[in-house]
Amino acid sequence: MDVGQELSGPGFAKAADVAIVGGGYAGLAAAVELAVAGIPVTVFESSRVLGGRARRVELNGLPVDNGQHLLVGAYVELLRLLQVIGADASRLLSRQCLELSFADGFSLRAPNLPEPMHMAAALLGATLSLPQRLAALRFMRKLKRSGFRLVEDTTVAHLLDLHRQPQAVRSHLWEPLCVAALNTPPVTASAQVFASVLKDSLAGPRAASDMLYPAVDLSALFPEPAAAYVTAHQGSVRTECGVKRIAPTPNGFEVSHDQGMDVFGHVIIAVAPYHLAPLLGDLPALAQSLKMTEALRHEPIATAYLAYPHDIQLAKPMLGLTRGHAQWLFDRGRLTGQRGLIAAVISASGPWQSLPPEQLLTEIHGEIGTVVKDLPTPKWSRLIVEKRATFACTPNLQRPAAVTPLAGLYLAGDYVASAYPATLESAVRSGVAAARSILETTGGQS
Ligand SMILES: Cc1cc2nc3c(=O)[nH]c(=O)nc-3n(C[C@H](O)[C@H](O)[C@H](O)COP(=O)(O)OP(=O)(O)OC[C@H]3O[C@@H](n4cnc5c(N)ncnc54)[C@H](O)[C@@H]3O)c2cc1C
Repeated sequence: MDVGQELSGPGFAKAADVAIVGGGYAGLAAAVELAVAGIPVTVFESSRVLGGRARRVELNGLPVDNGQHLLVGAYVELLRLLQVIGADASRLLSRQCLELSFADGFSLRAPNLPEPMHMAAALLGATLSLPQRLAALRFMRKLKRSGFRLVEDTTVAHLLDLHRQPQAVRSHLWEPLCVAALNTPPVTASAQVFASVLKDSLAGPRAASDMLYPAVDLSALFPEPAAAYVTAHQGSVRTECGVKRIAPTPNGFEVSHDQGMDVFGHVIIAVAPYHLAPLLGDLPALAQSLKMTEALRHEPIATAYLAYPHDIQLAKPMLGLTRGHAQWLFDRGRLTGQRGLIAAVISASGPWQSLPPEQLLTEIHGEIGTVVKDLPTPKWSRLIVEKRATFACTPNLQRPAAVTPLAGLYLAGDYVASAYPATLESAVRSGVAAARSILETTGGQS
């Protein structure tokens, strides 16, 4: 059935069937992009639930996420694909102007003005002293003048030193943004990737800086409607069907999985970098890509869910804390209708990792108590720690390319080479890029 690139003679090779290994945001983005072009795809996902590192989990009968996520308006590819599959983004995501509010009184809000006034107005309106506001504005202007390209990559902490950013601006603006976007502490985070994030979010069109809060769980947001779309367009999505081995043949690739073996013309491997080794082990052409992924270090993210009586609310849907372990609190009552449920997020490594879960939950409850008056004991609380949430986004990182030396085999995932850190959007873009590479080499023929 499959016509591989090597055997197809002159002209375009046919795409034949495409196997996609991994049903996270990258894999399903690739699947949708190919399904739109009429290419039959089979998605293999080892878990029961689609979404990978952005998926639904059930706690005390409630659908929550393996980690509270925040999206921004700059996630244009994810928003485009939602439209393609007919999902109603305005129901799935609550869009609000950028607003950073901290419990200690700091706030910054981007007003509904055209770019670049929205960001200048946001920085000038921040609750900082005039010299601090001007320093923040100067920093953005200098980055903009250089096209957000640094002569040399360094750490975010060093970049902020070079631009003499005052402590209050660092601790309430740049450092929380760095940790939230790169999931890497400023002392080790890549300044170049941080600059790229600022370019696309704060310095982009006003809508790009909007905050998009998921109103549904992360499997229902994109992976499940994407799977339904793929299934309705000649494809199939097989959950609880992990891929064990990929072997090149003259006609394509033999893909051995939990339910047997099938042959495909092309394969997109869209698993997390730490799941690549068993799949690439038999493919000497991929040795360099594997070496790069094995050199990546990873950073954790913890999400604590604390369930209080229904009338407990935060002053804002998302509130920053600067003292203690929790960095951001999310009011799931306001965001998803789960009243009384607070999600507390801790990104990147830190002292919290040395605490037993029960103690960390108790301390986080105490931190929520500093912003909610007369806070009762939670009815229940649970901690989810994703130890390898994202790769550590450090300076000059070598990341493997989507197109591999083995014709017909592509990599997708948030770790694949790009200007961006590990996010839902970088995962989606990588999946779309891998799908387009197949369409380009085949002329989109199935
Ligand atoms: C706690 C947490 C909080 C985060 N917060 C944010 C946020 O606020 N905003 C944001 O944009 N990003 C956030 N991220 C990052 C974002 O979730 C990831 O970048 C993105 O989900 C990665 O998607 P992916 O498809 O590249 O990989 P994955 O999600 O890891 O998907 C890979 C899939 O492959 C499957 N798989 C693995 N091996 C096999 C195999 N052999 N056969 C078949 N299937 C296999 C896995 O089960 C998985 O479903 C967060 C991540 C975490 C963990």
